[in-house]
Amino acid sequence: MELHFLGTGAGVPAKKRNVSALAIRFLEGDGTVWLFDCGEATQHQFLHSPLSLAAVEAIFITHLHGDHILGLPGLLSSRSFQGAETPLDIYGPKGLEAFVIQALETTKTKLRFPIRFHVLAEGRIRDEEKLSVDALALDHPVESYAFRIKEQDKPGTLDAEALKAMGVPPGPLYAQLKKGETVKLADGRIVNGSAFLDESIRGRTVVIAGDTAPVKAMEAFASGADVLVHEATFASNKKDDAHLYGHSTIADACALAKRAAVGQLILTHVSSRYARNENEYRDEAAALLPNVIIAEDLFVFELEKAGRKKRD
Ligand SMILES: [Zn+2]
Ligand SMILES: [Zn+2]
Repeated sequence: MELHFLGTGAGVPAKKRNVSALAIRFLEGDGTVWLFDCGEATQHQFLHSPLSLAAVEAIFITHLHGDHILGLPGLLSSRSFQGAETPLDIYGPKGLEAFVIQALETTKTKLRFPIRFHVLAEGRIRDEEKLSVDALALDHPVESYAFRIKEQDKPGTLDAEALKAMGVPPGPLYAQLKKGETVKLADGRIVNGSAFLDESIRGRTVVIAGDTAPVKAMEAFASGADVLVHEATFASNKKDDAHLYGHSTIADACALAKRAAVGQLILTHVSSRYARNENEYRDEAAALLPNVIIAEDLFVFELEKAGRKKRD
């Protein structure tokens, strides 16, 4: 799983930081890409990355501010122009569909692929065999969400040889045993499946938050995540302004990461006020959380496969 930071600035583009966009590429499958937010010129950032627009299968929009959605019409148009015909799921707050449809109609853009729009609400918003996505409402002047992307745990392998040696006949029973269930054989013997399974592989969890002032519920939502991508628009001496406008400081994001015991915090949505000199910003982050990463445009974070864990 790779996280491609395509735009890491806040509000307005700066020379080195474009407005918000982040792509996840799932390496384990066929290289599917999910995009989170699509600020202006996100499609240009794709050109500087190894990602292709055709590989984008789902777009998740945290909120409807311009620095998170104004790149959408152009990106959709180019995806179509490049020949993509596969359906595209777009998740976003109410109003997103009207914006996209209006932009496409005004510019007489006909897409070669269908769009399936999904209006966001809290809770499970996408459920696949291998992945699930949950949404949590945040605190911003407009409706804004965080997303938790979770891989399902992969069950351990069943020791079929040992079961056969015990005279357990292959068949539907094995499916139950593979789930770790206890079954009763025809001859009355009781077999506990978990005793014949090796360790399962823990699914990875990535949490991506939209613009927000600190929200208490994020602690539980991000608890134990492998990666938390969180905005830190300002250094902490701008705390009052940050909270007034529905944003977080470096200290807010670091405190959340500690309380939620996340594996890796990655800061993004950095104000252009630090464009000339990021030292103040970087020094504070490093002092608060030594392993914190401050994302930069086109930075790629590789999230390794999680290790095996004991069955519990
Ligand atoms: Zn923003
Ligand atoms: Zn915003």
